[in-house]
Amino acid sequence: MEKNSMTRREAIRAMMLAGAGLAASSSLAAPLRAAGVVPQDWKFTEPAKGDQVIHRTWKSLGDESISLLGMGCMRFPRKGSGRRAPLDQEAVNQMIDYALEHGINYFDTAPAYGDSERATGEALSRHNRKDYLIATKMSNFSNAELGACKTMFANSLKNLRTSYVDYFLLHSIGSVADFNKRFVDNGLLPWLQDLRKKGTIRHLGFSFHGSNAAMKALLEMPYDWEFVQIQLNYVDWKHMPLEDSDEPCDSETLYKMLADKGIPVVIMEPIRGGALANVSSGLKAKLAERFPQLSPAGVALTFASTPKAVMCTLSGMSNMQQLMENVYTFSHFKPFDAADNEYMLEMARLYNGNPHIPCTACRYCMPCPHGVDIPGVFGVYNAISDELMLPDPASKGKNYKEKRKAFLKRYATLAKGTDASACIACNACVPKCPQHIRISEQLRMIHKLVKDLG
Ligand code: SF4
Ligand code: SF4
Repeated sequence: MEKNSMTRREAIRAMMLAGAGLAASSSLAAPLRAAGVVPQDWKFTEPAKGDQVIHRTWKSLGDESISLLGMGCMRFPRKGSGRRAPLDQEAVNQMIDYALEHGINYFDTAPAYGDSERATGEALSRHNRKDYLIATKMSNFSNAELGACKTMFANSLKNLRTSYVDYFLLHSIGSVADFNKRFVDNGLLPWLQDLRKKGTIRHLGFSFHGSNAAMKALLEMPYDWEFVQIQLNYVDWKHMPLEDSDEPCDSETLYKMLADKGIPVVIMEPIRGGALANVSSGLKAKLAERFPQLSPAGVALTFASTPKAVMCTLSGMSNMQQLMENVYTFSHFKPFDAADNEYMLEMARLYNGNPHIPCTACRYCMPCPHGVDIPGVFGVYNAISDELMLPDPASKGKNYKEKRKAFLKRYATLAKGTDASACIACNACVPKCPQHIRISEQLRMIHKLVKDLG
């Protein structure tokens, strides 16, 4: 892992150093291959100078031409490591210039994204205001008092160096109660609707992080939503776990509710916070087999952008490599057909059935006073998981016998007394792990798996 990520950083650096022309003519495929981001035989070619990402238009939005790929501005590059390091304005400017040059015109930010609105405003204001669409939000999570909300909106305009917002969202509604508290009871919604009449807000919508039932209830309320932003990706299509609720939630139902009402849909988390760009080697190979022109991120973005009611898919790009990969995907965009979508649902099953423990084998947790070879045990588990061969004793699904045999054979290579059964859950190792892995819990899970396999 660490070796790969070092190589990846070097590759990105090489890309960034490739020059003032922003590497439009440099090879993207080679560094991606070297970093292990894509298989060695991956057929990807970098975007050409004239490549333009695809656009869609919506009657209800005045036939405005909107790039299907939107730039999520919450993960811009920083000068130095850590979340508090300042944004690298020069790199942000370069990325936004490249994005505009290749047809991306939708830029999504929020007051809740740290310094993002200011940096986005600085970069965009170097261009003609008519050439880009700004989406920002009312992030009134900690103070929903009307005066504070008005101040937040005024700051957004100032930071973004604009007199109007193209797409304005009520940020991250989780439930009807949350919606009422932050936008209705305080009198904010009529004020925002008035701004829309005046043209200070051109289109009004909301972003959503709740259950299917909450979305249904919101859509039954008498409001005129011009667009709605939801989480959609192939892993969450059939089931999306919610942080603080067991209520049913899935991208498919959320999307269909909106599409049925003719509401354009903006997609967030199409790559699930980056996780679907860094899938296991087994899954990567299966994706490359069917979609040789696309990186794993490209496959995830294409899945998310295929449904017809999708207005824009946001990708939070944090370097030029990711931007170029995405520009390639959307300038050669080919929606998935029914068979492709079915294949992706099988990929989602494999992804969920083969979880990865983020152990880098750094050995900071060693030695275990009770003799457990912690990185060794995790290494066996991850190797089998990477090969998509984890057996599930509960479902005894496809190829169960073969998977069971392979797992137990690999597990038996651990030296006597060093496997997960030796862990007494003293937790002496836990604070030493830089990856914050709940080591004893994971070892208990692996020990139970071995016992269940019999
Ligand atoms: S929790 Fe388990 S693995 Fe960790 S130090 Fe204690 S016995 Fe060893
Ligand atoms: S400290 Fe954490 S990451 Fe390092 S070997 Fe131990 S479990 Fe793995």
